[in-house]
Amino acid sequence: MDIFGIKALLICALIFIPFENLFAERPQKVFRKGLIVDLIYMLFNGFFIKMAMAMMAAGVLGFAAILVPQSITQAVSGQRVWLQVAEIILITDIGVYWAHRAFHKIPALWKFHAVHHGIEELDWLGAFHNHPVDIIVTKAISLTPVYFLGFSDASIAVFSMIYFGHTMLVHSNVRIPFGALKWLIASPQFHRWHHANQREAYDKNFAGQLPFLDVMFGTYNATGDKVPEKYGVDDPIPSTYIGQTGYPFLPRRKLSNRQAPRTEA
Ligand SMILES: [Zn+2]
Repeated sequence: MDIFGIKALLICALIFIPFENLFAERPQKVFRKGLIVDLIYMLFNGFFIKMAMAMMAAGVLGFAAILVPQSITQAVSGQRVWLQVAEIILITDIGVYWAHRAFHKIPALWKFHAVHHGIEELDWLGAFHNHPVDIIVTKAISLTPVYFLGFSDASIAVFSMIYFGHTMLVHSNVRIPFGALKWLIASPQFHRWHHANQREAYDKNFAGQLPFLDVMFGTYNATGDKVPEKYGVDDPIPSTYIGQTGYPFLPRRKLSNRQAPRTEA
């Protein structure tokens, strides 16, 4: 899927820019701070991630062919596509939840993930603003079981489209009521609170798509209807793409408030 190409960027922009304009959570310009860097992430970073993912998938599929009995992979891929997609969302989001939580709790990993949290004017493009190590490790953890179990190509393709649409939605600058669905499907409010640079928001709402995982594992942020005061981190994240890519490899700097020991709910 050419999700990182220019065409995909234009299609997404045509959908999300008017959408954010109509339902804006806070006033924000389209040409906002950090826009150019986020465009580089979407168009350039995505290329390397795609290559790494293709190599990883080939390796995992090779191992799976040896280790997993055909009776299992045939039973999994023989299910209806919609059921496979639902199972993939559940399996991957459990992986995303724990990988994400590890990226917050382990200081050496936090330096990679802090790059994503460095966005101060958050919108749909922020979904792509991830350090390559962060995204590759998270995808390796969350997708390996999917490749091992033998889900069909069609169901993985449908899942990918849902995933990319959903991740852009949860980062977008919109406020839309989800009602009771907010427990089942991650809303922009759920994830944008994860990005809030406020003590009560730290280390909460780790799920990518399924908020009930945070309820189950005790990290759900029930902040209610409020709008976060500000986004970003106190860490000294450089402003350029090259600077951000090299940032986690720099010698340990002075600990900021954001990196101080945090308590979990
Ligand atoms: Zn995070």
